[in-house]
Order: sequence, then structure tokens, then C-alpha cells
Amino acid sequence: MKHISKQSEVLGINSNHNEFKKAVLRLTLYYTAGVFIILSLFSFLIYGLFVTRYDRTFHEGVHSENAETIGDEIKENLLHILIVSDLTLLVIAVFVSYGLSRKTLSPLEEVYQKQKRFIANAAHELRTPLAVLKAGGQLIAEKERSSDEYKKFVHESLEEVGRLIDLSNDLLFLAQNTSHSIGDVQLFYLSETCLKQCLHIAPYAEMKSNVVESDIAPDISLRGKQSDIERLILNLLKNAIDYNHAQGTVLVTLVKKSGKAVLSVQDSGIGISSKDLPYIFERFYKADTARTYNKNSGTGLGLAIVSDIVREHGATIAVESELGKGSRFEVTFPLV
Ligand code: ADP
Repeated sequence: MKHISKQSEVLGINSNHNEFKKAVLRLTLYYTAGVFIILSLFSFLIYGLFVTRYDRTFHEGVHSENAETIGDEIKENLLHILIVSDLTLLVIAVFVSYGLSRKTLSPLEEVYQKQKRFIANAAHELRTPLAVLKAGGQLIAEKERSSDEYKKFVHESLEEVGRLIDLSNDLLFLAQNTSHSIGDVQLFYLSETCLKQCLHIAPYAEMKSNVVESDIAPDISLRGKQSDIERLILNLLKNAIDYNHAQGTVLVTLVKKSGKAVLSVQDSGIGISSKDLPYIFERFYKADTARTYNKNSGTGLGLAIVSDIVREHGATIAVESELGKGSRFEVTFPLV
């Protein structure tokens, strides 16, 4: 436990940007060194060419002492001009290189910070169920317990282990999908997949005193990764149940509209505030109502996974929600 909490501190999102600054300075140095080498070569070339040509002209033509002095002065002036202009260009090059280095490295810095935030959040999500497991174990081990108490502990521990398994599955899915390309693409019946998922979630809905209703147009097929689409539907359905009131309803519809398949999952639940709505697809984001840890709270990765799958399939997702009244998630798939 100590190890995990320590790690999340080390990986905190506010940690310093020293590495980034060092990389920018190093790149600035490389750019400036490159410019310096080019300028020096250029200046040597100009000066060398001038001196060679001048000396040749001088030896072939004019032979007065005055002309020799003028020649030396011209050479000296040229050398001064070259040195001053090279130094000026070098100073400008330092600033331009710094700007360019920042521009080159800032997308990498963004990815790096995102990665760090992701790991810190993952560590936090892992720590919470582990802390619950540890506290439960310590409490039960304090003294002799009745068999009912042991049973309750085992039951609760299994729930926490289930959460850890869900979390690791979600993390694995997101990690494997970072390339944003879909393998195992096939043509399958979306209508059947929707019905299958509605049936699959029905016992869970019943356990939560919810009802899942469906109105699915038959024979709509889709080209994509079936297992991902199953996951997308299941995540939307699970949320529609988890954030619903008791005796609430969930309505799933699938229709064909203007050459596209439109899947909608509507619930009569708690709704999402306009403040939270822009962020719900971000990894680990949980709206205020779901933020406090309880055995039903999710990982905050469900909609991030949905969003990845939507993007992979060239689809779009829209959400309408009203606090206290419910939400409707609509996914529009292009059909081939
Ligand atoms: P979680 O694992 O917390 O459910 P999600 O990524 O699936 O994570 O959802 C992010 C947040 O969006 C949830 O914490 C919840 O606050 C909100 N949310 C998602 N779906 C719904 C819904 N159908 N009704 C109300 N709030 C929802």
C-alpha cells in the first residue's frame, strides 16, 4: 500500500517540468551549433575566395604600395563585417532555435504529461479497492468472528477483487488501443449484437430494479470489430443502469437513418450536469455525484473506452441530459 501511494506522489501531475526544459535547452544548443557551423563555413569560404581573388588581381595588375595598403584594409574590413554579422546572426539563431525547440517538443511534453496523469489516476484507482481490502482484512483478523461475519468479508472482498479485475481489463483495453487501428474487422449484424447485449445486461438491471426495453430495427449490419461494439453497448447500458433511479427504465433503440445506423441508449436516471457534460469522455473523469467511492462507483474509464471505439469505427457520439430526468447517448455509425 505504502508503495502505491508513494508512487502516485512521485507521478503527481504537478511535478516539475525540468526534463522538458533540459530537452528544450539541449535542442536549442544543437540547432545553434548547427547554425554556427554553417555560418563559419560560409564566412571562411567568402573570406578565402575574396582573398584569393584579390591577391591574384593584385599580383597580376597594380603594384603600388598604396594599393597594397588599401587591399589589406579591405581584407580587414571584410573580416570585421563577417565576424559582426556572424555574431549577430548567432544571437538571432539562439532565440529562433529556442522558439523552434519549444514548438517541436511541446506536443511531446503534452503526451508525456497526459501519460503521467494517466498513471497517477490508475494508481489512485488501484489503491482504493486495495485499501478497502486491507482495512477489511485487518478488522476481521482482530478477533475471532462468527461464520456470517467471515462470509460477509469474503463476499465484500470478492466485490473489490472484481473491481480490480474490471479496472485492469479497462486499462489493458486502453493500452492496446493506443494505436487507434482496428484489427479483426468483420461484417456482422449490429441488430443482433444490440439484442444480445440487452439480454446479457437484463439480470444486472433486475438486480438494480431497473427494466431494459428495446426497439431494434432488424438486419442492420456493420463493418467493424464486433467485440469492441459489444463492449461499447455494454458500457452505455451499464451506465444507464448504474446512474438510474430504482424502478427506472432504460430504452435501447437502433434505426437506419440517411444511410447510417443510429444507436440510442436512454435512461430515466440522475442525469449529468452541464458542468460535467464536456468532460465525461475523459479518462478517469467522474461527475461529482459519482466521485465518492462506494461499491457501485465505476473506474471512470467506461466512456473513455466508448469514445475510443467510436473513433476507431469512424462513428460519432452525442449526449443529451437533464439533471434528475435522465440521459440519452446516441452513437451514429457509418454503414458500408
Ligand atoms: P464510471 O466508471 O464512473 O461510470 P464512465 O467513464 O462510464 O465512468 O462515466 C464517466 C462519468 O459520467 C460517470 O462517473 C458519471 O458521473 C457520468 N455518467 C456516465 N453515464 C451516465 C448516465 N447514463 N447518467 C448519468 N451520469 C452518467
